[in-house]
Amino acid sequence: MAYRGTGKILRVDLTHQTVQVEEITEDLYRVYPGGKALAGYYLLSELPAHVDPLDPENMLVLANGLLTGLPLATATRFTAAARSPLTGAYGESEAGGWWGPELRMAGFEAILISGQAKQPVYLWIQNGRAEIRKADHLWGEEPEQAQALIRQELGDDKIRVLQIGLGGENLVRYAGLTNELRHFNGRTGMGAVIGSKRLKAIAVRGHQRVVEGAFDSKKVSELGKNLARTVKEHPQSWDLYDKGTLGLVAGLNAGGILPTRNFLEGAFEQVDQIKWDVYEKELLTARGSCYACSVRCKREVALDDRYQVSSAYGGPEYETVAGFTSNCGIGDLQAAAKANELCNRYTLDSISTSATVAFGMECFEHKLIGLKETCGIELRFGNAEAMLQMVEMIAHRQGFGDLLAEGTAHAARVIGGEAHYFAMHVKGQELAMHEPRGKVNVGLGYAVSETGADHLVAIHDTMVQNPNSVPFQGAKDLGITQALPARDFSLEKVQQYLIFENWVSMGKVIGFCYFGPAPRSFIKVEDVITAVNATTGWNLDLADLLEIGERATNLARLFNVREGFSRQDDRLPERLFTPLQAGALTGVALSKDEFERALTELYRLKGWDPDTGAPLPGRLEQLGLGWAIVGHEAAD
Ligand code: SF4
Repeated sequence: MAYRGTGKILRVDLTHQTVQVEEITEDLYRVYPGGKALAGYYLLSELPAHVDPLDPENMLVLANGLLTGLPLATATRFTAAARSPLTGAYGESEAGGWWGPELRMAGFEAILISGQAKQPVYLWIQNGRAEIRKADHLWGEEPEQAQALIRQELGDDKIRVLQIGLGGENLVRYAGLTNELRHFNGRTGMGAVIGSKRLKAIAVRGHQRVVEGAFDSKKVSELGKNLARTVKEHPQSWDLYDKGTLGLVAGLNAGGILPTRNFLEGAFEQVDQIKWDVYEKELLTARGSCYACSVRCKREVALDDRYQVSSAYGGPEYETVAGFTSNCGIGDLQAAAKANELCNRYTLDSISTSATVAFGMECFEHKLIGLKETCGIELRFGNAEAMLQMVEMIAHRQGFGDLLAEGTAHAARVIGGEAHYFAMHVKGQELAMHEPRGKVNVGLGYAVSETGADHLVAIHDTMVQNPNSVPFQGAKDLGITQALPARDFSLEKVQQYLIFENWVSMGKVIGFCYFGPAPRSFIKVEDVITAVNATTGWNLDLADLLEIGERATNLARLFNVREGFSRQDDRLPERLFTPLQAGALTGVALSKDEFERALTELYRLKGWDPDTGAPLPGRLEQLGLGWAIVGHEAAD
């Protein structure tokens, strides 16, 4: 029999309180083999157009990657996808941790959730069966307590719990999901979607050995052992083990691309207070990992000092540190650790949360808002106490926090004046802590990403600009022949962008973490191909894998076209076209002409209409998405 994973999906209707197990056909799984592709397929084919993201009719898809749960380092990811309450566009966020692998051990590739329960509920899935249970006693509980209560109630402390905290319950538009209290589907507001359904948690336990379902389980296991050995020898994965993502701070600051004071500047004068060595000395208590991953890039921190920080909620990674320190003008790692704990406790996306606080600070500095709006809080750059109070107010939807909980785009419209200029977002989603003026393909990725600004849609320019670097050597296996400067916006660079975009998108389908495959890290291209073929027996090559990634991106783009998005939404914030005000790239700005030319060229390479950004029928037919053209017309 041809490979189709566990072959099963779970369909949950919370309005009618039903659960139903369905088969996935081999034909379907072969074209949409998990994660982003499977989620995009169900959302495009089953969710009607223009459904309000917080309406019961919105569908949340949780879909495992093709390799998720196999004994392969970094094959841990699952996708959460729905129409996003933050952007109104295709919403999607991947998480690692332990929940996705456990779902597969319990016998499911994906869960499709629609409707809305009358009272809070949670879902309990165990070895191929599922039931909806009451959760009145869990609603309002913090994730640590809710997880303990669920495990106690079901009598098994190995149950994996995916859930929301207060931010999701209060429908903060950038609330996420957490599993094991420290692994997050952070972006695009999937926590608000699940909160709108009054679904507090999904508890999972399974006993299947995922590797036994593989086409060649012996080869998968051997590859897994080889990869585990490679982790220790490879400079990229070793750096991730050693410093986590915090190793980035010093280099980005030196290069003038550490977002500072809401992207006004590219270097932070207090950088010495937020570097890895301070983090290691003042905060770190342990390293952590996801299922079967020997990279162990996760950190655990605790504090009993100026702030009390519990180790239960993990530790801040680069994005969270930069977001709550340099980008808010705050040189205080302890405050960032507290902000991280609050975000994780309330299941708020720490990127969007910190970016909305930075936006609020700039509005305050420019007197667009005052003490009256902020309830007496001096919301200035550098004010750590104000930052922490604002995170609390966002989660509780109190005062000015209630407005920030709607995201920067909405808040800017309400505040008016020049506030829109301070709102650093694309399609309504806030920029991550990477500076496009110093790495232009990151900017292109922010602009075209269907989910709004996302830093994980391609490989960052700085990683592959040195021809002698290990990442560039890894990139060669993808057909990249030239190492190009990070600020080069030539046709060749756009061509590279597309290869990287398809490769990274493919990773979101098969379930590898961004920190697994080359060129970002240690898994060679040929090993990725081996992993897929040993698992499935499909005998795919690199071109096939890139096509899988491209198909997934096109599904998401078609979703957005249906919702009325077009080229004019693939726009970067105005600030990026003005000069950076501090750091090694002082005076450097993106060129509008170059950006628009690159966008047109990218559309052309993708087979998209250069005027509208919509996929053209020719390329869709080649990708096997002809049905989606018909579906799109029917939906209209
Ligand atoms: S590299 Fe880090 S984030 Fe990725 S799977 Fe391993 S531990 Fe998890």
